[in-house]
Amino acid sequence: MNVILLGAPGAGKGTQAVLIAKRIGLAHIASGDLFRQEQASGSELGNIAKSYMEKGQLVPDDVTVKMILGRIAAPDCAKGIMLDGFPRTLEQAKALDEAMSKEGKGIDLVLYIKVSNEELIKRLSRRWICRDCQAPYNIVEVPPKVSGKCDKCNGELYQRADDTEETVRKRLDVYFSQTMPLIEYYSQTGKLTEVDGERSIGEVSEDLIAVIESRIGR
Ligand code: AMP
Repeated sequence: MNVILLGAPGAGKGTQAVLIAKRIGLAHIASGDLFRQEQASGSELGNIAKSYMEKGQLVPDDVTVKMILGRIAAPDCAKGIMLDGFPRTLEQAKALDEAMSKEGKGIDLVLYIKVSNEELIKRLSRRWICRDCQAPYNIVEVPPKVSGKCDKCNGELYQRADDTEETVRKRLDVYFSQTMPLIEYYSQTGKLTEVDGERSIGEVSEDLIAVIESRIGR
């Protein structure tokens, strides 16, 4: 089972992908996390990505596609993948389809988490993340027990440089112009299912898991 989680920045893709990938047994691949790891390691790819990420722009397709195709060729992806944050452009989606079909594989399901614009801006500007385990916190609605520390691993919480209001607006513009066309692309294939993302984390994940399980006949 190869699944794509589609949705705007702040729709909850990362949170849901972790829960679902674990429950269904899929390799979770988050393009944004991969870029942040590359930056932290000081690699050339990380440096290229940084200049785009800081401005809220997309990293060029050729660089992004190469990184993701390299990752999905790893042995742990044979059991199935959950893509989070990729593809984000039609070019990326087409490159993914082409690469997978060469391997006799394909995308089985695209889950679209829908959240309104006002809610996205509110969520992103309140989001803090654990530097060690990447767990997200909403510092207004779900604050950590100890200020600045992760409840799960005691790591330091930080606000992503691209979660400031100005960059958030830019990222949402980019999402509407470049990523929204994917909804039409995948709905034409009959693989897209839309889920209301403005509910509790548990309600959304139960819905998403039910869609996947009905697809795999569990
Ligand atoms: P995310 O963590 O998914 O919000 O991604 C953070 C940033 O990484 C984005 O704003 C982009 O600059 C970059 N990025 C992540 N995924 C992609 C992608 N599929 N294509 C291009 N850039 C991406």
